[in-house]
Amino acid sequence: MNELANCPKCDRLFVKSLRAVCRECHQEVEEMFDRVYTFVKKRENRMAVMSDVTEATGVEELQIIRFVKEGRIHLAHMPNVMFPCEGCGKSIREGRICGSCRSGIRSGLERVEQEERFASRKREDENRANTYHSVTLNKKR
Ligand SMILES: [Zn+2]
Ligand SMILES: [Zn+2]
Repeated sequence: MNELANCPKCDRLFVKSLRAVCRECHQEVEEMFDRVYTFVKKRENRMAVMSDVTEATGVEELQIIRFVKEGRIHLAHMPNVMFPCEGCGKSIREGRICGSCRSGIRSGLERVEQEERFASRKREDENRANTYHSVTLNKKR
């Protein structure tokens, strides 16, 4: 089904199909990607910092970071290009968050699960106690 929508980037009306933005904007992003990709690929640019990449390609830092987060650009071989972790702001080169935030999220989840288990066990104990109590009362009567 073809649905008309306003492009979130340029506000032009376009047919929304597979892409979230209009054809012109999509093309623009692809061109930016090509420029960043070509720059990052070159061995002589290995020691570049983020501002070198933005200057050489004319692409905004945020857009470059977006490419990295989407997994399209890899900075593993560019030790000086970093961006802040979404969790704590520490400098990272891959993904959205740093290693310690990742494990922090995991242990946080485990803690919640543990608390839930504990709460449900406590509820079971209380139920058992109540049943026992009512049984003894019935016996007495
Ligand atoms: Zn557009
Ligand atoms: Zn972090």
